[in-house]
Amino acid sequence: MTTLDLPGLLTDPATLENLSHDEAEWAPAGTPAAAFRPQSTEDVQDAVKACAANGVPIVPRGAGTGLSGGANATDGCLVLDLSRMNRIIEIDAENLLAVVQPGVVNDDLKKAVAAQGLWYPPDPASSPWSTIGGNVATNAGGLCCLKYGVTRDYVLGLEVVMGGPVSYGTAVKLGRRTNKGVAGYDLTSLLVGSEGTLGVVTEITLRLRPAPRPPATVVGAFASLVDAGQAVALSTRRGLQPAALELIDRACLQAVEDWKHLGIEPDTEAMLLARAETPEDADGLVAAFTDAGAAWTERSTDSAEAEALFAARRLTYPALERLGPLLTEDVCVPRSAIPVMLARIEEIGTRHGVQIATIAHAGDGNLHPLLITPPGDDNARIAAQAAFEDIITEALALGGTVTGEHGVGLLKRDGMIRELGPDVCSLQQSVKHTLDPLNLFNPGKA
Ligand SMILES: Cc1cc2nc3c(=O)[nH]c(=O)nc-3n(C[C@H](O)[C@H](O)[C@H](O)COP(=O)(O)OP(=O)(O)OC[C@H]3O[C@@H](n4cnc5c(N)ncnc54)[C@H](O)[C@@H]3O)c2cc1C
Repeated sequence: MTTLDLPGLLTDPATLENLSHDEAEWAPAGTPAAAFRPQSTEDVQDAVKACAANGVPIVPRGAGTGLSGGANATDGCLVLDLSRMNRIIEIDAENLLAVVQPGVVNDDLKKAVAAQGLWYPPDPASSPWSTIGGNVATNAGGLCCLKYGVTRDYVLGLEVVMGGPVSYGTAVKLGRRTNKGVAGYDLTSLLVGSEGTLGVVTEITLRLRPAPRPPATVVGAFASLVDAGQAVALSTRRGLQPAALELIDRACLQAVEDWKHLGIEPDTEAMLLARAETPEDADGLVAAFTDAGAAWTERSTDSAEAEALFAARRLTYPALERLGPLLTEDVCVPRSAIPVMLARIEEIGTRHGVQIATIAHAGDGNLHPLLITPPGDDNARIAAQAAFEDIITEALALGGTVTGEHGVGLLKRDGMIRELGPDVCSLQQSVKHTLDPLNLFNPGKA
C-alpha cells in the first residue's frame, strides 16, 4: 500500500517486479510501494513533492539496462519510470545541438540526427535499448569513447527536478546552450554520473558532431590474450587514433561460435576489432597487430564488410548470457597496464576455479571480465564473488578504477570506498547531504 496520491500510479505486483531491477543479476533488489510513469517535467515535480511529503524514496529508471544495480528498487520506494518521456524536443543543426527528454533511446536519437547529417557519438553497446537519461545518470561510455569521449563530453545542459536547498520538486536548469561557458560551479557535470542520487533529470541539451566518414574495420587474431594486450599498448604508443578498439577473448569467441557458427578459428585465443577512420590509422593498426604477434589480420573493404566484422562483438553479451548468470566486472586500468591486468584476470579465474570471459573496450583500458556461474550452483557463486573482489584489488594495485563506465550502483559500493578513501568519501557524502538532506533520491546507491 502507498500513501502517494498520483494519477495512474502502478501497484500491480507483476509490473512492480519488472520495474524493480536492472540487468545486474547479482545485485539485491527491494520491493517498491508503487511505480509512476511521468509524461512531463510537471509530472516528475508532482511525484517528487508527494514523495517528500510522505518520506517515500524515489528510484529513477530509464530502460533498466544498468549493470550495477543502480536502478534497483529499495523497499517501499516509488519507481519513477522515465521511459515515456521520450520526445526529441529539438535538433538545432546550425548550433550542433539537440534537446531531448530523458526517455529517448540512444539509437533513436542517433537515427534522428543522422537524418540531418549529424552524429551523437556516445555509443554504449546497449544503445538499441538504453535511454539518454540513463546514459547521462551513469555517464555511459561505449565503443567510440576512445576517440570521441564519454556522455559527459556531450552534455551541455540539464533540467533536473531536485530537493535540498531548493524545495523538493523544484525544476532547475543547469548548464547552457553555448559552445563555451564558465559561469558558476559546473553543476551539470556533477549531475552527470550521479546515478539518480541527486535529482531526476527531465531534459537534456546535447552537443552533436557532423557525421564522420564511414570507418574501416581492422581485425587481429592472436594466439594469446597477453599478445592482444601488447597490440593495444603498441597502438597507443604509436599514436594511432582508432575510433574503437575492442578485445574479445577465447571464451567469448567460443560462446558466439557455438551460438551463431560464424566460422571463428578454434586456435584464436583473443581477437582485436578496431574502427579506423583514416587509411593511415588502418595501415598502422595492421602493422601494430602484426608486430605484436597476430596470427592473422584482416581489413574491411566496404561499409557492409566493416559492420559484418564487428558482429562477434555485438553478439558476445547475449551469447554469454545463454551460459548462466553473469557477474559483470567493469574495472579500468592505465592502457599500458592492460597486458598485466589480462594476465592477472586469467590467473584469478584459474585460482578460484571460475570461468571468466573477457570483453574489453581495450583502447580505453576498460575491461569487462564476465564471471559465469552455472545456474543454481551456490559454491560457484561464492567463488565468483571472491574472484570479483580480487579483480578489483588487482585493478586498484595497477592504478586503475573499480568502474570505468557502468557506475557504482550496489555492486561497487565497497570498491568505491576502497578507491576513494575516507576523506573523498566524506566530501561525496556532504554533497549528497546538501542536495538531498532527506536522502530520498535513490538512497543507498553510489
Ligand atoms: C548488453 C549491454 C551492454 C552494455 N554496454 C555498455 C557500454 O558499452 N557502456 C556503458 O557505459 N554501459 C553499458 N551497459 C550498461 C547500461 O546500458 C548503461 O549504464 C546505460 O547508461 C543505462 O541506461 P538505462 O536507460 O538502461 O538506465 P537504467 O539502467 O534504467 O538506470 C541507470 C541509472 O541511472 C539512473 N537514472 C535513469 N534515468 C534517470 C533520470 N532521468 N534521472 C536521474 N537518474 C536516472 C537510475 O536510477 C540508475 O542509477 C550495457 C548494458 C547491457 C545490458
